[in-house]
Amino acid sequence: MLRVAVIGSGPSGCYTAQSLVQSDPGVRVDVLDRLPCPYGLVRYGVAPDHEKIKSLQVSLRGVLEHERVRFLGGVRVGGPGGLPVERLRELYHAVVYCVGAATDRRLGVPGEDLPGSWSATEFVSWYSAHPDAADSGFLRGVRSAVVIGVGNVAVDVTRMLVRGAAELRPTDIPQAALDTLTASGIDEVHMVGRRGPAQARFTTKELRELGALPGIDVRVDPGELALDPVDPATLPPAQRRNVEVLRGWAAAPQAPAGRRIDLRFFLRPVALLPEAPGTGPEPGGERVGAVRFERTVPDEHGGVTGTGRFEDVPAQLVLRSVGYRGVALDGLPFDASTGTVPHVAGRVVRDGVPSPGEYVAGWIKRGPTGVIGTNRPCAKETALSLLADAATLARADVPADPVAALRAGGIDPVPWSGWLSIERAEAALGADLGRSVVKLADWDTLLGAARTP
Ligand code: NAP
Repeated sequence: MLRVAVIGSGPSGCYTAQSLVQSDPGVRVDVLDRLPCPYGLVRYGVAPDHEKIKSLQVSLRGVLEHERVRFLGGVRVGGPGGLPVERLRELYHAVVYCVGAATDRRLGVPGEDLPGSWSATEFVSWYSAHPDAADSGFLRGVRSAVVIGVGNVAVDVTRMLVRGAAELRPTDIPQAALDTLTASGIDEVHMVGRRGPAQARFTTKELRELGALPGIDVRVDPGELALDPVDPATLPPAQRRNVEVLRGWAAAPQAPAGRRIDLRFFLRPVALLPEAPGTGPEPGGERVGAVRFERTVPDEHGGVTGTGRFEDVPAQLVLRSVGYRGVALDGLPFDASTGTVPHVAGRVVRDGVPSPGEYVAGWIKRGPTGVIGTNRPCAKETALSLLADAATLARADVPADPVAALRAGGIDPVPWSGWLSIERAEAALGADLGRSVVKLADWDTLLGAARTP
């Protein structure tokens, strides 16, 4: 029997486990996660109002309930107090790292760290009930928000900022986030791209959803669209559809005053400016008050150049949604320029050569791009590499049951039954609140529920 550890229970981890057990009846997989809850970004990244995408949990659940797959929650790999990478190699014949891209890219502009400026990930983690997220008073005194970036995460956070109670209440959003979002005084959200509509990264389905939000006016400046003289007919289909949707909105009559989303293009952020002293809710008023953008124009290669003309967009909340970034794991090679682990067909490369027994899949392998389904072929490639090495790997002497060894080392994993207890607790909380399932949002409550039979 080949014992494999998969680190991370998000889509790439689950698809890797699935590929392994489906391809070889002689493989057993432990899926380790630092959280007591499975599903990674499907649970903690997909927006609560995207119920259809969230329902993918049903198929991931099928993988984690497979007779030769075991979920081990609450096990941190690497870092202070975590299970060292070297120890994992002693416990398993092979280890597959599916740890995603745990941090955000930086903008690198002055004022980026002013109070009121957050990465989109911090905001997503808060409304997704991630136990490491803090309630940071994101919306206190906010009338205008700027979202920097025009990818699908930017669309998610923009939509969540203006969603109403009737739409959010049926979701599993934690109660505190529901109360805060639906009581907010936000009037306008500006979502801003440094390049043009033809280079935007969002998908048309997600873009269209903005236009369908009840009571929300979506505005696009026809003058900004005209900055790019591209003929939509010459664009690939995905970009062509985006441009057509945006041109439709630009041509539509503006609704009378109300909440609105402004989609802006050809503006690159150059600084976050503080609010005038004494005007904010905090004494001193030193939080963000506006974002200064430089007008850009398209060059001939899909990029942009600055024009030296500037525009300040008022914002008491700035969400920087400019992409995720992989984080180095102690003991594992890392390419800081790409934020990924160097590999060949999923085999980790150490000192220029593939290292048998160590593999990667998902965002830590290929970078933070693609939709959930992109992880399937990615995971399969890695699983096939591992299985091709199986005969050699199986010669290593590993313990019959790694969990006993983990416990001896002071790590007591949360088993699948612990996760099922959390699910029951979330259903009970929802029933108490007159809602359906409501997520538990802090470590103590999650771990308490996990240990309750
Ligand atoms: P993304 O798709 O890479 O978009 C990042 C955005 O940030 C781009 O518009 C990029 O502009 C901009 N950007 C980067 N650096 C910038 C800078 N210094 N100043 C201004 N703008 C900057 O990243 P993401 O939105 O985080 O999404 C990550 C992945 O998750 C994507 O594959 C996405 O499709 C996926 N996702 C999917 C869904 C869904 O299917 N519903 C939901 C969420 C996420 P440039 O293009 O000019 O670099």
